[in-house]
Amino acid sequence: MRTFPLRIGTPDGLLFEGEVERVVCRSITGDLAILAGHCNFCTALGMGEAHVVLEDGSRRDAACIGGMLSVMDGSCHLLATTWEWQEDIDAERAATAKQRAEEKLAKGGLTDQEYKIVQAKLQRALVRLSVKS
Ligand code: ATP
Repeated sequence: MRTFPLRIGTPDGLLFEGEVERVVCRSITGDLAILAGHCNFCTALGMGEAHVVLEDGSRRDAACIGGMLSVMDGSCHLLATTWEWQEDIDAERAATAKQRAEEKLAKGGLTDQEYKIVQAKLQRALVRLSVKS
């Protein structure tokens, strides 16, 4: 299988650099897979499960929460707001965050702004739990 260079970064620094067969993540318009030979491209990222298939065919799963992805002259750059490899996700923390968010939503009385923040927290927790499962 053909490979292409991928760099994954966050505001905290470079998380991955290497040749890959594929990167899959969620853009704001839906799920997206980049393979070797993809045309030049740029999109904003949504919140969802992601994975990278490495040169040796092995797969690394991750939670990707927002950012930008670009393909330029065959190289892919993924700058995520948050990118957590599966092994780095703390499932207990995510379960607690999910429960906290659900309780706040059930209690009600939130302003529109608070509602959006709690919904986003719930979505992040669900993505993390889904990547861990
Ligand atoms: P929490 O309420 O548990 O902080 P959150 O969704 O509000 O969850 P974020 O604001 O998305 O947290 O993330 C803050 C930082 O904590 C980021 O660096 C993120 O990678 C990390 N983080 C959050 N939740 C987890 C988790 N379950 N496992 C590993 N890292 C996490």
